[in-house]
Amino acid sequence: MATEVEVEVEIVKPHTDKREYRRIVLKNSLEVLLISDPDTDKSAASMNVGVGYSSDPVGLEGLAHFLEHMLFYASEKYPMEGSYSKYILENGGQYNACTSYEHTNYHFEVNSDCFEEALDRFAQFFLGPLLSADATMREIKAVDSENEKNLLSDGWRMPQLQKHLSDEKHPYHKFGTGNWETLEVQPKAKGLDTRHELIKFYEENYSANLMHLVIYAKENLNAIQSIVEHKFQEIRSNNRDYISFPGQPCTSKHLQILVKAVPIEQGHKLRIVWPITPSILHYKEGPCYYLSHLIGHEGEGSLFSILKSLGWAISLYANEEGWNREFSFFKVTIDLTDDGHEHMKDVVALLFKYIHLLQESGVRKWIFDELASICETNFHYQDKISPIYYAIQIASNMQLYPPKDWLVQSSMPSKFNPSIIHSVINQLSPTNAR
Ligand SMILES: [Zn+2]
Repeated sequence: MATEVEVEVEIVKPHTDKREYRRIVLKNSLEVLLISDPDTDKSAASMNVGVGYSSDPVGLEGLAHFLEHMLFYASEKYPMEGSYSKYILENGGQYNACTSYEHTNYHFEVNSDCFEEALDRFAQFFLGPLLSADATMREIKAVDSENEKNLLSDGWRMPQLQKHLSDEKHPYHKFGTGNWETLEVQPKAKGLDTRHELIKFYEENYSANLMHLVIYAKENLNAIQSIVEHKFQEIRSNNRDYISFPGQPCTSKHLQILVKAVPIEQGHKLRIVWPITPSILHYKEGPCYYLSHLIGHEGEGSLFSILKSLGWAISLYANEEGWNREFSFFKVTIDLTDDGHEHMKDVVALLFKYIHLLQESGVRKWIFDELASICETNFHYQDKISPIYYAIQIASNMQLYPPKDWLVQSSMPSKFNPSIIHSVINQLSPTNAR
């Protein structure tokens, strides 16, 4: 079977966007979005693999993240260690990767005249990484020191605390980064060979049908397509399915809890978190857009303006976070003053009073319409972002949206459905909160 070009799929793009887009599916089932931008100086690629730390084997927490590190090391074709990163840095580029709950994303950008060679090195991650024994030890140490660094950051500590206070049987509970203890000491004690498990994990999960690739280049679409076919169609596919874990990470025993934690940074933050129905299931109805807009509003009569006038809050954000198709959280974060900290219970009471008001007053169409038109304008007149971030943003979400919405994603709510919005408001109850 040759590469399929799905001409019939029209990808919705911003009115102001002159770039060209094409979706192709290679013979190994790898789905690719090609972006041609003749004006660009930098070219970029982002590969999203549909597996993350939720798939770490029991007793080997951090394995998916550790594998992400190992792929950078060396490949059969380029066995010299660090050859990929060196090439990119020497040619005006940058690179990184990120392991999340159910995805691992690899990405780079480089001067456009060096793109093809950089891409060839990048493709080896998925074709023939070396995963050598001596690199294994050193890279476990690198993961361990990354974790040591994370321990000094509230941005890592607080989410991990939230995971820890959830159902132990649910993969959300896992420790995704890993360290020396989870990748070396504990496996050894159980007679597990970390490198052997690493290779097994790679072979089972790095399958072309679970990958999505975005290529952003200066050449025309036909030229980009032939480069991509040449470099990526030999990635193996074992046609396995995405692993999803049904069920909620928070049971009744993990709700209605109050957790006090001493932060590293100065100041007081109050976070109220509710498990909710994931918005991705209703992304055209955008229930969380509506709620974030109202709860996070800063104008006259808003919750924030009251907290501010009482001298209790410095800022307030409301948004959906940590979502996937199975579960999601809505979160209100309030930066409190010292006085606000003293009145923490009153702050919480005012928040619930406001939510109660939203429940009682019903969903307003004019508010939704106003929001929808702001979102539409923002989408169609967005500024160009750098190729690497643009590629990451699209590749990370290709699995979640139909091709038509690969660029739009959840950014343009357009269907007013008060009952969907109302059902999420009702989930923001005191009994459902953490
Ligand atoms: Zn890392």
